[in-house]
Amino acid sequence: MAVLVTGGAGYIGSHTVVELLEKNEEVVVLDNLKKGHKQAVLGGKFYHGDLRDDQFLDKVFKENDIEAVVHFAAYSLVGESVINPADYYNNNVVSTLRLLTKMKDSGVKKIVFSSTAATYGEPESIPIQEDDKTAPTNPYGETKLAVEKALRWFDSAYDMKYVSLRYFNAAGAHTSGKIGEDHNPETHLIPIIMQVATGRRDKVQVFGDDYNTPDGTCIRDYIHVTDLANAHIAALERLRAGEESGIYNLGNGKGFSVKEVLTTVEEVVGRKINYEIAPRRPGDPAMLVASSEKIMKELRWNPKFNKLETIVETAWKWHSEHPNGFEK
Ligand code: UDP
Repeated sequence: MAVLVTGGAGYIGSHTVVELLEKNEEVVVLDNLKKGHKQAVLGGKFYHGDLRDDQFLDKVFKENDIEAVVHFAAYSLVGESVINPADYYNNNVVSTLRLLTKMKDSGVKKIVFSSTAATYGEPESIPIQEDDKTAPTNPYGETKLAVEKALRWFDSAYDMKYVSLRYFNAAGAHTSGKIGEDHNPETHLIPIIMQVATGRRDKVQVFGDDYNTPDGTCIRDYIHVTDLANAHIAALERLRAGEESGIYNLGNGKGFSVKEVLTTVEEVVGRKINYEIAPRRPGDPAMLVASSEKIMKELRWNPKFNKLETIVETAWKWHSEHPNGFEK
């Protein structure tokens, strides 16, 4: 039986496909390629289409014996979601409801869902625990929370079991250097710094240095994309073992400030990175750091690349070898 990976041509999806293939899983990848890259899909059976296309979805479910779904397909930029909530609700909520309904009708009862730390909003305390209050401060977080709520009701009504993984800051690239992060436009900190290092950009703008943190810049919990990918496999195993549904944070439990990330990149690439202090970015909490104790205990997940230097080294391998990302 196959594992269907929606959004499998995206950054985290493509890394998860690689880990699934290494475990000899039968993998079916579905992506509309609006943001994803066909070249990032290193194996499995590929379908190009959209979850909101009923005929297309019928075809994927008819042609394959799907056991479980790992659902990444979504938009994921906070700033964009504030400007265009309609697209976010449509692509993240409407698409997922179509998928869940198709799963229900086809008797597929296992789903691993790609959620986010943005479901919490401004944290009440650090590190963030899974039962902390969820009060998203942007449409992106709202759409992911809306899906988590739908999953709960699909579980209670149709016995569809889920694991929802609330990611903190995904970073780094596959150690092979074959796949990595390539967004257009790029908005994430580490790839932006890499673009300065490779000469594609003059400088990094540091969004605010007057936060209530030791050096005044925002603190985030960076987690290697392969560690993230492996958490999806651990989640799948939990569902296969017939365990209950669950929600888990996914981070390293250690925060780094924007300035610390800059210094680490300078050390790894051996170049000075030009930066300037810019105004705060709306919607950015000062500090987001996960407690990942629950996933470590219940899913026996353990990060392999939990040093920021290692995360940055793998990112640098990808960006220095592919300064223009995936060639079109
Ligand atoms: N950041 C920055 N300059 C940039 C991009 C990001 O100072 O050009 C900061 C941002 O304010 C946040 C951190 O870097 O504190 C991580 O941002 P990113 O967009 O990578 O991830 P997010 O935390 O929004 O998911």
